[in-house]
Amino acid sequence: MSKHTTQRPAILGMLGGGQLGRYFVTAAHELGYQVWVLDPDAHSIAGQIAERHLHAAYDDRAALDEMARECSVITTEFENVPAETLDYLAKSVPVRPAAAAVSVCQNRLSEKGFLRDNGLPHGPYAAVHSEADIAAAGADLFPGILKVVRFGYDGKGQAVVEDREAAVAAFRNFKGETCILEKKLTLDYEISVVLARDEEGNTRCFPVSENIHRRGILDISIAPARAAQCIRDSAMEYAEHIAAKLGYIGTLGVEFFVSHGQLVVNEMAPRPHNSGHYTLDACVTSQFEQQARAVCGLPLAEARAHSASVMVNILGDIWFDGDAYREPDWNLLHQYPNLKLHLYGKHEARKGRKMGHFTVIGEDAAKVLDTAMAARAAIGIAD
Ligand code: ADP
Ligand code: MG
Repeated sequence: MSKHTTQRPAILGMLGGGQLGRYFVTAAHELGYQVWVLDPDAHSIAGQIAERHLHAAYDDRAALDEMARECSVITTEFENVPAETLDYLAKSVPVRPAAAAVSVCQNRLSEKGFLRDNGLPHGPYAAVHSEADIAAAGADLFPGILKVVRFGYDGKGQAVVEDREAAVAAFRNFKGETCILEKKLTLDYEISVVLARDEEGNTRCFPVSENIHRRGILDISIAPARAAQCIRDSAMEYAEHIAAKLGYIGTLGVEFFVSHGQLVVNEMAPRPHNSGHYTLDACVTSQFEQQARAVCGLPLAEARAHSASVMVNILGDIWFDGDAYREPDWNLLHQYPNLKLHLYGKHEARKGRKMGHFTVIGEDAAKVLDTAMAARAAIGIAD
């Protein structure tokens, strides 16, 4: 296929309007594009800074028709945009990544099936459509984690289940929704690869990030990961292989477990990834600029990190002080001269809601980590 470049000042369409979409809007603006955001949330933080916020449902035909007519290319920041919406738009406008790639990542069972069919390492699992599937599951899957196959994120729709009885109770709790039962692996640590791939198959990986979760939500990303070079290299190879097999165009996040020294693919995100936020401050090019470049047919830029970095997520929890609700004292962070604070402009803080993040950058990785942990404690993030 010959490469087509989206000319400036074209309009780019973004499905989803959270912080990932907001950074895409900024990156696209810097490159000279306009952006329209479709998001059913009236308070969409990407919609606020876009040329236009189409405040409509993801299956609203009138809004989709308008987008298809006015936008030169359409991309997404949210993996749960219905695949039918992507297919519908694709009849009249390029949609990147394509519905086929996104839909693999929308369902934990199709994701695991994809990994299995392509010889990629994944953990043991069983599909759970009914209680009988739990009765028939291998004993090796316990203790396990029961997860709903669709719409789970940040540890939501998951339950650790010690035995079959607990799995049945959790399955009932999920109201009989289709689930996947995964063996609970012993994790040495977790890493992720964020990459961008263009229409011609050129691929650029950002340095591997090491990720620490707290209550199922990403807390800290350390980049580059402290993993051995051979682990980092294999993770990048697997991620590139996944992107190629998906025929992927755009920015892709791939999460890995390292269990007993072995790499296991956990899950894929067909969009920029929270663990790639460090690229905004520590790399030559951010994951969002790379997404804009990939979907517009511009050459991908250098993904090299110029600094060691540690990113810390800021959740809404720190707005709450006992019964009081108040803005955190950001001066506690501004005192660190190598700390970059990012606030997403969400109108209301809630516990567990991602409100922003900060990234500490520097030459000495150990010092960067120490500073980030001190800053994290200073702003009141609990351990
Ligand atoms: P989400 O869509 O919420 O990110 P994940 O499947 O990535 O869902 O699970 C969130 C976190 O829960 C993982 O990053 C990991 O820390 C833990 N986890 C998930 N699955 C397993 C597993 N099979 N074994 C051990 N830990 C797991
Ligand atoms: Mg995950």
